[in-house]
Amino acid sequence: MSDRPREQAVPPGLGTVVVAEDKLQARIAELGREITADYAGRPPLLVGVLKGAFVFMSDLARAIDLPVEMDFMAVSSYGSATKTSGVVRILKDLEADVSGRHVLVVEDIVDSGLTLAYLRKNLAARGPASLEVCALLVKQGLQKVDLDLRYVGFEIPPRFVVGYGLDLGER
Ligand code: 5GP
Repeated sequence: MSDRPREQAVPPGLGTVVVAEDKLQARIAELGREITADYAGRPPLLVGVLKGAFVFMSDLARAIDLPVEMDFMAVSSYGSATKTSGVVRILKDLEADVSGRHVLVVEDIVDSGLTLAYLRKNLAARGPASLEVCALLVKQGLQKVDLDLRYVGFEIPPRFVVGYGLDLGER
């Protein structure tokens, strides 16, 4: 999750590079090809989960060779800064009516999975024609619920990561 050339040092305060930029972009191109094939003839409505997913969403949307539509939701999880409780508040809801639409939720990172489980339930209740999830990063071994993730970029170790839209204290 860094765009620094490998030979350059990571700035102080940051740990090691978890996913290098070239690997990240190659995987997003692959995901784009898969999604293009899977949704041929039924273009998806991409639902980005703000704020973290906006950079991923913009790259992913450009990697999909279909007339996609995009909308965004912003949610906040109740809980401590680093641990979610699974109780989610919708800060910004969708503008689009998702009933009868092929909805593809675009999420930056899945940790406990509780935020996504809530979102899935919430969106499913609105009657989409289909509902799938594309998550860039999934932390290994932490999910408390079965999330049925259709597309996953990378499985990563269960550590806190930053960059590529993933924030640290809003930065
Ligand atoms: P979950 O409900 O899956 O435990 O948490 C999901 C949300 O917590 C993500 O959408 C993201 O906003 C935030 N989050 C979880 N893990 C990380 C992380 O390692 N780094 C950053 N920057 N945010 C994270």
